[in-house]
Amino acid sequence: MLDVLKKIVQEVSIAPDLDSVLNLIVRRIQRAMSTEVCSVYLFDPEDQCYVLMATEGLNQEAVGSVRLSAEEGLVGMVVDRAEPINLENASEHPAYKYVESTGEERFNSFLGVPIIHHRGVLGVLVVQQKAQRRFDESEEAFLVTLSAQLAGAIAHAEATGSLGVMGEEPSGEVVNLRFEGVPGSAGVAIGSATVVAPPADLNSVPDKVAKDVEQEIANFEAALKLVRRDIKVVGRSLAQRLRSEEQALFDVYLRMLDDNALAGEVVARIRQGNWAQGALREVVMEHVRQFSMMDDPYLRERATDIKDLGRRVLAYLQEDAPAVLEFTDETILVADELTPAMLGEVPSEKLVGLVSVHGSSNSHAAILARSMGIPTIMGAVDLPLTRIDGRELILDGYSGRIYVQPGEDLLTAYRDILRGEQEQAAELEAIKDLPAETTDGFRMPLWVNTGLIADVARSLDRGAEGIGLYRTEVPFMIREFFPSEQDQAQTYRKQLEAFHPRPVTMRTLDIGGDKSLPYFPIEEENPFLGWRGIRVTLDHPEIFLVQVRAMLKAGEGYGNLRIMLPMVTSVGEVEEASRQIDRAVKELQDEGHDIERPLVGVMVEVPAAVYQVRRFARRVDFISVGSNDLTQYLLAVDRNNPRVADLYVSYHPAVLRALVFIAREAHKENVTVSICGELASEPGGALLLMAMGYDVLSMNATNLPKVKAAIRQVSKEDAGQLLKDVMAMDDADRIQKFINERLTELGIALPKQPVVV
Ligand code: PEP
Ligand code: MG
Repeated sequence: MLDVLKKIVQEVSIAPDLDSVLNLIVRRIQRAMSTEVCSVYLFDPEDQCYVLMATEGLNQEAVGSVRLSAEEGLVGMVVDRAEPINLENASEHPAYKYVESTGEERFNSFLGVPIIHHRGVLGVLVVQQKAQRRFDESEEAFLVTLSAQLAGAIAHAEATGSLGVMGEEPSGEVVNLRFEGVPGSAGVAIGSATVVAPPADLNSVPDKVAKDVEQEIANFEAALKLVRRDIKVVGRSLAQRLRSEEQALFDVYLRMLDDNALAGEVVARIRQGNWAQGALREVVMEHVRQFSMMDDPYLRERATDIKDLGRRVLAYLQEDAPAVLEFTDETILVADELTPAMLGEVPSEKLVGLVSVHGSSNSHAAILARSMGIPTIMGAVDLPLTRIDGRELILDGYSGRIYVQPGEDLLTAYRDILRGEQEQAAELEAIKDLPAETTDGFRMPLWVNTGLIADVARSLDRGAEGIGLYRTEVPFMIREFFPSEQDQAQTYRKQLEAFHPRPVTMRTLDIGGDKSLPYFPIEEENPFLGWRGIRVTLDHPEIFLVQVRAMLKAGEGYGNLRIMLPMVTSVGEVEEASRQIDRAVKELQDEGHDIERPLVGVMVEVPAAVYQVRRFARRVDFISVGSNDLTQYLLAVDRNNPRVADLYVSYHPAVLRALVFIAREAHKENVTVSICGELASEPGGALLLMAMGYDVLSMNATNLPKVKAAIRQVSKEDAGQLLKDVMAMDDADRIQKFINERLTELGIALPKQPVVV
């Protein structure tokens, strides 16, 4: 049964539209369960009723015309209870409602299973039989399992249904389709979507209309030639180590690329109008599907070969495919998985918004987007990536909603919000040069988190008093190999110079987790619990020493450098890193540089570090809390997983308790304690942290004026009371609500409310 289930799910996931999805489902289920009837009902939000959408066994004329409310009939009962109903003789049940047009009077047994997506009942799957018998447990389990697996595909097909077929040029006609993601960076954007594909990822290649068919074919053939050459080279170089049957595999490989196989089909698709990359994706995916459904394990494996060949061809196509990089004046960049490098691909004056199908608000791309002030939505998992390119979008970075091809009413409402944002920015501009001081005279130092050099000017402009976190991995990510000591020193110097005499905290390379370098891939099952941050750099002293030397050289003559160590778990790591820093200082002094040992600090971002704050504090000059990671590790919630994004809550009582504890422990050793996680960027979070006694709040430059405005609005006592009230509460949602209410009472502007449609 498992095989059948897998096959159905696989077929459904690639069916082109909602009708095919539903017809396929009823046909396959009817056959797999040997029932006389299988039908699917879906919820129609306009009429608030469930509509018979497809059936195998009932009268076809009833499709689309049978509409039941959530209180009507057995289908309504399945919806109401949100659980299966299994009856031997349906017509005897008091809830049974006879619908003549279906011809269902012939059937007695009934099994209805809800289709549930994101906690809501999307529809109902029903099987019926003439025989009077209860469907047995395994049949019920089969249908429940299938329904759970198909819910996502049905929701997706339903959502994308009105977007037209693949390859069609966006029509511009109003569709008003709404997709949900999670807010990555606040703000509203209105613009046109440009889908970017990562190198050689077939899944996220968009369909585009081929502007010049002959040129597309020529590009495809050139790429094909290069792949053929590569495979021959690999085949020849392995010739000595392979037996002749294995060598023959390379010939099989090459034949797959022949004109009468893959290549011919791709050319035909290009002639039908799709560009080379889109045509390649279509053909490869079809073959992959056919092969992966084969029973023969050898043939099934061919799916992998085809995919591999497809990727190889795509990689060459993308190298000379600048067409992807055409940007309109108001570009909303859309990607399957937004990476920091992608942000750099669009000229900044044209980039108005970002959307990522995967990832969450704590992905590094989202953090960068916040620091650049670009409205961003992450984790829009239902967004049909292949059908979005070129369409008009509204992006609501407050609520995490995306509207595709919006109507005039919606556009007017969002244009109003955009104007409101500009007015608020002007108000904040007025307090730019004033200190972050409470009404009773307490000064709260506000620093910034940076990564790109562009952040520096914006930060200074917004009145930042120091850099609390410079993410050095950002310049590493946008290179093609490790930057040299000289290269690094030049980059770092720009930050130190611009902020001098204000302090600049440079974090040593924090790669691993969700931050990988293209030239230093780390493949792990569980990267957030793997080789990350200080663990990598201590294992590679050559990388660590070069980086520390570059920082020290960059700081020569300025005296404002601070070095910070990420992902520290044990005292031993701090001691070892300290020794390396001493060594670098000594080396440079011996080489004649006029430098001194800078202040060195550790980040507290894993739970183990929370309980060792005093021990760390005795060995370093400052402590800085990385609340982004600390939250994910304390709550066991992956910061990039949209499925659990709701559970990633900074105001969780456990997180707040840990934050209070860390500040207290650090102060017992008279060491300053700062925070550089995103919590400090929220007005509510900032007030709580101030009340907890944090000495410095470091945040993204975009939010600094809002945080400053909030601090200027309250007394230290107000903040203390807020903290006291919050610490007495048990539930993160209630805490969030309470904070919002208090902020409103204190006259602190909350983000603009999204338009609810
Ligand atoms: C953190 O974890 O809070 C932090 C500041 O570091 P990053 O977000 O770069 O992991
Ligand atoms: Mg971190």
